[in-house]
Formats: sequence, C-alpha cells, structure tokens
Amino acid sequence: MSYKEPAPILHDKDPLESMMKRFHVAAEYLDLDEEVYNVLKSSVKKIIVSLPISMDDGSIRVFEGYRVIHSNILGPSKGGIRYDPSVNINEVTALAAWMTWKCAVVDIPYGGAKGGICCDPKQMSLSELERLTRAYTQSMNDIFGPDKDIPAPDVGTGPDQMAWLMDEYSRARGVTINAVVTGKPIILGGSAGRIEATGRGVMVATLAALTKNKINPFNAKVAIQGFGNVGSWAALLLKERGCNIVAISDISGGYYDEKGIDIGKAIQYRNENKGTLEGFKEATKISNDELLKLEVDVLIPAALENAITEKNVNSIKAKVIVEGANGPTSHEADSIIEKNGIIAVPDILANAGGVIVSYFEWVQNRLGFKWTKSRVYRRSDSIIKQSFNNVYSISKKYKVSLRTAAYIAAIDKVSRTYKYRDGSFTFQKNGQNT
Ligand code: GLU
Repeated sequence: MSYKEPAPILHDKDPLESMMKRFHVAAEYLDLDEEVYNVLKSSVKKIIVSLPISMDDGSIRVFEGYRVIHSNILGPSKGGIRYDPSVNINEVTALAAWMTWKCAVVDIPYGGAKGGICCDPKQMSLSELERLTRAYTQSMNDIFGPDKDIPAPDVGTGPDQMAWLMDEYSRARGVTINAVVTGKPIILGGSAGRIEATGRGVMVATLAALTKNKINPFNAKVAIQGFGNVGSWAALLLKERGCNIVAISDISGGYYDEKGIDIGKAIQYRNENKGTLEGFKEATKISNDELLKLEVDVLIPAALENAITEKNVNSIKAKVIVEGANGPTSHEADSIIEKNGIIAVPDILANAGGVIVSYFEWVQNRLGFKWTKSRVYRRSDSIIKQSFNNVYSISKKYKVSLRTAAYIAAIDKVSRTYKYRDGSFTFQKNGQNT
C-alpha cells in the first residue's frame, strides 16, 4: 500500500522572494524606519490545518489548508482562497502580502490575507469540494469574520465555494452573516459585477496604459496567457473596446489568429469542454512559450506566478505588459523589462478590480442594500483610473518603474497608518492641530 499523497508541485522560483525584493526596493526609496520595515515585512499570523475528507469512493484523504494574514493595519484582512496543486505556505505568504499592497494602492480599508488548499479541484467532484470547503471553514471559524478576515475567490474557487463558506460560518453562529465572504452568488448577497470585476479592472488598466503611452487601443494587438475568469473577461471586454485579441492560452496550450480570435466562441467552447480550450479549432495551435514571444502591443499574463522570468523575458516583444495574475513576473525579470523599454503595469494595480468590487460587496452586505451594476462599474473603473494616475505620477517623481511606484504608494500608506496607530506619529508632533 502507498501512504503517499502526490507531492505538491513547487515552482522553481519562490514568489515570496520576488515579493520581498520589491518591498525592499520601495522601502529604500521611502527611507523606511527599520522598526516599521520589520513590522511590514512580517505576517501577523500563519495557520496550517489538515483536513481529512471522505472522498466519493469511500476513502479518506487528508488535505493541507492555509490562511496567512499579512496585515490588518488598514482594516480587516482581505484576500482570496486558492485551490491548486501548487499551493504551499510560501506562496500563500507572498500572495497575502500582495493583498496588503494591493488594497493600499487602490485605497480601500483592508489589510491583506490569502488562503489556499493544496488540491486539484479539476479532479474532484462537487460534493468532495463542498466537504473540503466546509471542513476548511470550520478550521478557520475563529479566524474569519466580517470585521476580522474576509475571504474571497481566487484560482480554482468561485461563487459555489463562497456560498458553502458563508453557510458553514453562519451555521456555527445560528445567524446569517453574509459579509464574512465576498464573491458570493448574487442571490446570497453577492455584488452585481463581481464575477467580471478583475478582468474589467485589467481592461481599464490596459486602456489607461495604452493611452498614456500614445498607443491607439483600437486594433491594438493583445495576447493573453491564461483563460480562466480573469483572462477570459479581460479578453472579452478589451475586444468590445476595439482591441484585436490575437492569442489566448490555457494549460492545453496557445491559440493564435492574426485577424483576431472570436472570444465569445472561445468562452462558449471552454464552458462546454470541462473548462479547457483543448481542441479549440478556430485558431492555430501554438505553445504557451510562443504566445509570450508574439509581436503584440499588449501581453497580459493572467495565469499563475512566474510566467515571465529572466529565462524568457528577453524574447518578449510586447510594448506593454499588464499583470492580470498575481506575481506573474519574477523579480529578476523586472530590471530587464525596464532596460528593454517595456511598460509593465504591476499586478497589485492591474488586477485590483476584483478586491475593489469585493469591498463594494462587503459595503452592500453591511448596509443591507444592493447597488446596480452600472454603479459598481462606474465606481470601480474610476478607482482603477485614479490609482493608475497616482502610481504614474509617483513613477515620474521618483523616476522609477510603475511597479516600484505602486509599492512606494502602498508602503507609504500602510507605514503612515501604522505610525498613527502606534502613536509614534501624531498630528501634534507634526506641528499640526487636529
Ligand atoms: N483573489 C483576488 C485577488 O487576488 C480577489 C481577492 C478579494 O476579493 O478579496 O485580488
């Protein structure tokens, strides 16, 4: 008998290292006090749980689950839950810190957290996934809370998991508490516009970057790596605005058509084909690697971490990179991207649309009120545009990349808030009266 679960798939690069390197660079620009530096680089809490689950075949499998709270300085911690075979504690720790910086860049009152379970949701039945999600929620019963830590979807999770989580958390208290989680189905208090929110934010950030760099979005060539929720919505919405989506890809490989891919058809195909583009005949098959090397105006990595590393960055010909995924570029690739004159809109700005609409969902739940889709769109678009302009002017002021500028904006905000809270900075000391 074999007692071994399949070993988790580890990336050859550690996303935590990439996150820390960027944090360090920005902290130097800000001349951050050592004490504050040490507070901000550390996670508040890391929880690892084992979750024994009865599988449909009667066997019991034990899954490992994580929740890392990186910061609660700006408010309750916020961040998604990832179901993927590559999930591990270092990755979750990096992703949690990225949530802190993301919420700070777009100025919403949350700290950062992330959760995950090392599992392969594509190989599990709905009822196995439900049992796993409920067991995870029970383990995190004291961690989650609408004023403490608010989970949401991420890679491998969606409205179903959020509904089970909300139900399990509420059952333990005997009262429905829908503000404990965002990304719920609309009927359970989810927000209009949440499903497409991250992809929509990527679209708004892409148009902002193109306009600033005097590239006409009309007919601009776009290649998108990853055709999950973020990649497919970004593709659809950019196409609606006149861009030419020449390539898309998922785990099955890349699909290319110089004249533009019919994104509606590709989405329909994926939905009817167990979530994959495998066998999509409307475009020429290319490899994921070839997609990254295409001569395009915009490249949108919208899959997992480390799609762009020092190994392939020199073959990228895109003028603009917009990071739909979290951490798709390794820190070693940053300086090469800059040297090659490519504009990279960093993840913590480009993909913030999701958490912005999560914030709106939480606000609506607490008000017991529903906003219209157009209000959600208008407000989230305007936050992304304003944040883009803010990061852009910081990049001019410090003569740094948009990535470093975004970290400067975020770390400056969190560190100043921290100093007010711990009393080391006061209005009076600063020579001002309240
Ligand atoms: N998982 C998404 C992210 O990485 C959304 C998080 C949230 O809505 O809390 O930004």
